Amino acid sequence: MRKKFFLETVGCQMNVLDSELVVATLRKAGYELVQDPKQADVILFNTCSVRQHAEDKIYSALGQLRRHKERFPHKIIGVLGCMAQKDQELIRERAPHVDVICGPGQLGKLLHLLQAVERTRQPQLAVSLGRAEAHRPEVQESFESYDPLREPELRSNHFQAYVRTQFGCDKFCTYCIVPSVRGPEQSRPPHEIVAEVRYLVEQGCQEITLVGQTVNSYHYRFGDGRLFRLSDLLYRLHDIAGLRRIKFITNFPRDMTEDLLQAVRDLPKVARYLHVPAQSGCDIILRRMKRMYTVSFYRDMLQRCRETIPGVAISSDFIVGFCGETESSFQRTCDLVATAGFKNSYIFKYSPRPGTKAYELYPDDVPEEVKRRRNNDLLAIQAQVSLADHRRFIGQTVEILVEGPSKWAYKLRDRISSVQADSGLPDQKSSEKEEFLQLTGRTDTDHIVVFDGAMRLVGKFVLVQIEDASPYTLFGRYVGLADVPCDRIVLGNALTNDPDSAGQGSPLGLADAVGSGATISANPTASEPRFRDWNSSSETSAPPQAPSRRLPLPLV
Ligand code: SF4
Repeated sequence: MRKKFFLETVGCQMNVLDSELVVATLRKAGYELVQDPKQADVILFNTCSVRQHAEDKIYSALGQLRRHKERFPHKIIGVLGCMAQKDQELIRERAPHVDVICGPGQLGKLLHLLQAVERTRQPQLAVSLGRAEAHRPEVQESFESYDPLREPELRSNHFQAYVRTQFGCDKFCTYCIVPSVRGPEQSRPPHEIVAEVRYLVEQGCQEITLVGQTVNSYHYRFGDGRLFRLSDLLYRLHDIAGLRRIKFITNFPRDMTEDLLQAVRDLPKVARYLHVPAQSGCDIILRRMKRMYTVSFYRDMLQRCRETIPGVAISSDFIVGFCGETESSFQRTCDLVATAGFKNSYIFKYSPRPGTKAYELYPDDVPEEVKRRRNNDLLAIQAQVSLADHRRFIGQTVEILVEGPSKWAYKLRDRISSVQADSGLPDQKSSEKEEFLQLTGRTDTDHIVVFDGAMRLVGKFVLVQIEDASPYTLFGRYVGLADVPCDRIVLGNALTNDPDSAGQGSPLGLADAVGSGATISANPTASEPRFRDWNSSSETSAPPQAPSRRLPLPLV
């Protein structure tokens, strides 16, 4: 009988991609993926260490499994990913019933680890070297590449895929644990990435998203000394016939180079969407975070992006309540959000992480209720900005890639089914249900659009006329298939990007609106979530989607 495995994933796009590859490997080895951990012979957690909240949830889940493991000692429990790399000893202490601990740089060994547990009934550990444990080349080598050939049927859909451009990070922002748990920054050779994308496209993939902790710092040096940058990679990928859209996340503000912006401008397949986390609008806090730029540099960078790429949409990340953040520091962040014209922002409350510089150097001195209030205030400001941004689309026809039914559509369908069951009415035929589903998709500027349409449109590029807008979603009417890419629709920026306006209230009067207590509540929506994002449940702003949506976590 086939062995069954369950895999729960939390965290960023890197983890989503890692999990996809783990699923592919285990299924290839004959395992069957199941949705209920109780049915599984192997229960795995792909973990995140960016916030305490995410770690607490994993320990809680492991605690709940203790009794289960006592009753079924042959079952294997594994902790994968960043927590495994960071907290090997702690996991063994707090959850001694865990059989496998496997860091993100060792996932290629997972199958062997599982087999070793079966054989020996002894716990197995595979982690990479810590950054202080050896010289850089050895540490680098200990983080192994894990990007086996992709199998379309093992992805959540056949038309979209993440593709890794690099591992690790060398920026060392003081609040961030990523450089420790994911190791030194290493760019993959271009030929590997191009071959992987070609393979994905042959399998029907139309949209790829290049992912890296700081994707725009991608650089690969050939043996003869030539440098290959992200812009070069975009040109190479753009030539692949059949590929319709290329996205890349997440960007570091200092690495937003002219060649990259020009490539986005000049290559029609490259999405006009840049996620560039600012993290704070206060220079003192940015210095404490060791972000290596000032607010004025960031504003100039925004201006360069918008001057070079007409119609580009930019989103950001912010951390509120970082150590030493005063009311006036926070006010500067509010000013930045009110005036910068972000499409959306992901907003997080600071969570001190052992092992980071900030944890060592600065007291976590902003009380939790203040963090919460600032989080809500910033969300409210961003919601007003997002609404203005979204309203510009009303009356326009946009091209979107249809991703699937909206979450609201799933809820409605379940509700109809339960009402029918209660009333004794016959169930609708599934084909009838499909005809009336609310579908969701994204423009090349990453704006979320919902419209009513048939399931057969999922995975296709279609044209939708926008009729209404909320802060997170555009609502439209299906116009037809976009068989060939339509010309880019370029809308002017509704918001001023004039750095001189900082601190003087936004041109939309947002400061007044917020000051008077007027808020727009965040009502994010999402297409069918592919993983549970425990971090985002209470701590992030949610961008987009009609009635509800999973938010990617920030990579920078
Ligand atoms: S926040 Fe981003 S850029 Fe900074 S250290 Fe972490 S992963 Fe690197």
